Amino acid sequence: MMSSLDDTSECRAEVLAIDIGGTKIATALVAADGSIRRRQVIVTAAHTSADDLAARLLDVVSGYDLAAIAGIGVGTAGPIDYRRGVVSPVNIPAWRDFPLRRCIEHSTGLPVRLAGDAVCGAVAERAIGAAQASEWAIFMVLSTGVGGGYIADGKVLAGRLGNAGLVGHMVVHPGGERCACGQLGCLEVYASGPSLVRRARAIGWVGDHPAELLAACRAGDALAAQVVETAADAVALAIAQAAASLEIELAVLGGGVMRSHDVMLPAVRNAVARRMRDGVVSPVNVVGAHHSDDACLIGAGLIVHRPDLLTLSSRNNAAEL
Ligand SMILES: [Zn+2]
Repeated sequence: MMSSLDDTSECRAEVLAIDIGGTKIATALVAADGSIRRRQVIVTAAHTSADDLAARLLDVVSGYDLAAIAGIGVGTAGPIDYRRGVVSPVNIPAWRDFPLRRCIEHSTGLPVRLAGDAVCGAVAERAIGAAQASEWAIFMVLSTGVGGGYIADGKVLAGRLGNAGLVGHMVVHPGGERCACGQLGCLEVYASGPSLVRRARAIGWVGDHPAELLAACRAGDALAAQVVETAADAVALAIAQAAASLEIELAVLGGGVMRSHDVMLPAVRNAVARRMRDGVVSPVNVVGAHHSDDACLIGAGLIVHRPDLLTLSSRNNAAEL
């Protein structure tokens, strides 16, 4: 008989956390305080089959001492059917309506909880990161893409299908540049790492990496500064919209682009101040994330340790329905 996850008792044993990305899968043991150990990362092929990908995942999972693990938490791109435990991650074409929860539960005998990857990141920042003291916040990841999660009344919004806070596809410039999703003017077109480089090269900057671009901005390069300014303003627009819709007080920014936070944070703060100076919406504090690279992995563990931080009830997302 599979043990069940009880959302009222504090879970002291370690949890196996799994962060499933489009090109790699990270696993680690996560303690209740969010500390991680025994991290492993495997690279996954883009065109592998559903069963092969699952077999690779289960092979890594079986390497852990499952008898000492309280449960398993999984962060993955949406959409996720929480009730059925079925996933169709937008970045993994091989998995469409894939019964991920049942697959891992049958293999391990352990209860499994799922959540959106950026939702997991928001849980990590809420539990042990920059949003610990804030009950109304937005978490944004500026990386290869742009994702995020909302914290409302102290809890992270799990979303109907795991995609609440998909801020990368919030339109910040109607009629603007076309996004990979088909819309015009999405935030991701202006503020993801690859977008920063593409936009800078289009106006004559020479370089290949977002970090180079941000370093150039720091050094006073006018072209780089122009692109960073546009990105910061796009992020500020998304923050202002979150403030208008959810009355957030805090924006937590993470992801690779924010590694150069000495460049991006002041730029976003200035843009937020410009965008929100009318005073109708309460001011929003903008800070860097505490767990830039590991937020999703830590959060995947914490959705098992701290289900109270997620709006999803355990009944809708646990082994025994
Ligand atoms: Zn888009």
